[in-house]
Amino acid sequence: MFAPHTLKDRVAFITGGAGDIGFDIAQAYGRMGAKVVIASRNEERLKKAEAELQAQGIEATAFVTDVRNFDQVKRSIDDTVAKYGALDILVNNAAGNFHCPTAGLTPNGWKTVIDIDLNGTFYGCLAAYEHLKQSTHGGNIISIITMLGVMGWPGAAHAAAAKAGILSLSRTLAVEWGGDNIRVNTISPGPIGDTEGVKRMYLDTGRGELEQKKTALGRFGAKADIANAAVYLASDLAAYTTGDNLVVDGGRWLKYVAN
Ligand code: NAP
Repeated sequence: MFAPHTLKDRVAFITGGAGDIGFDIAQAYGRMGAKVVIASRNEERLKKAEAELQAQGIEATAFVTDVRNFDQVKRSIDDTVAKYGALDILVNNAAGNFHCPTAGLTPNGWKTVIDIDLNGTFYGCLAAYEHLKQSTHGGNIISIITMLGVMGWPGAAHAAAAKAGILSLSRTLAVEWGGDNIRVNTISPGPIGDTEGVKRMYLDTGRGELEQKKTALGRFGAKADIANAAVYLASDLAAYTTGDNLVVDGGRWLKYVAN
C-alpha cells in the first residue's frame, strides 16, 4: 500500500521523535520520502536518533525543544521551515506520565503532565498553524493519545485528562482549520510491547500475560503498527479523513466495554 514516494517532499516535525514510538514514526516518514525534524529535551538521545536516521539515508534534523515552553516550540518549528522551506506534518507525540492514585497527586505533579501532553500539543498546533496553512500538500496534524483518556485511567488522572483534552482540541481544530486545508487527527495506541513504557509497567511487574489477554487480539502491538497508522493519516490516502481518532489497540477498549 505504501510506496517509497508516499510522503515525498513533505516536511514533518515530530515531538518526542527520539522516543520509542516517535522514532519509529520518524523512520517510517523518512523511508517514505519525508524530511523529518525530531524535537525533545535530551540532546544526547536526540543526536543519537538523528545520526541513526541519517545513516539510513533519511534527511533528518534534531532540535532540542521542551514542549512546555511555547517560545522554544515556535523557534524550533520556525527553524524547521527556515531549513526545509515548509512544514506539512506536525506529530504531537511527546508525553510524560507516572503512576499515582489521585488522592496522592500533588498540584505540581498534575501540572507537569498537563503541561507536557496537553499544553505542549496546543503549543505545537498554534506554532505550526501559519506554516501548515501554506503547505502545498495540505497541512496535517496527528496527535498520539490513548483510549484510556476516554475510558478513565485510574492511577493516571493527569495523563487521562490531558489525552482527553487533546482529543477535544483535535476535533475542534479539525473544524476550525478544515477550511485552511489542514487535517487534524489522533491515534490511540493500545499497549505497545516493544516500548520501555510497557516493559516497565507490565512486563517487569509480571502483568504481561494479563494485559495481553485484555486485548481482543490477545497480544501487544508493535511500534510499527503506530508508525503505519501515522503514515496513513499523513498521506493522501487519508485525504478526506479529519477529526478522526484512529484506534490501534488490538480491540482493547472494546473488550473492556464488552466484558
Ligand atoms: P517515550 O519513549 O517515553 O517517548 C516520549 C518522548 O517524549 C521522549 O522522546 C521524551 O524525550 C519526550 N518528551 C517528554 N517530555 C518532553 C518535553 N517536556 N518536551 C519535549 N519532549 C518531551 O514514550 P512512547 O512509549 O514512545 O510514547 C509515545 C506516545 O505514545 C506518547 O504520547 C504516549 O502517551 C503514547 N502511547 C504510548 C503507549 C505505549 O504502549 N508505549 C500506549 C498508548 C499511548 P525527552 O525526555 O528527551 O524530552
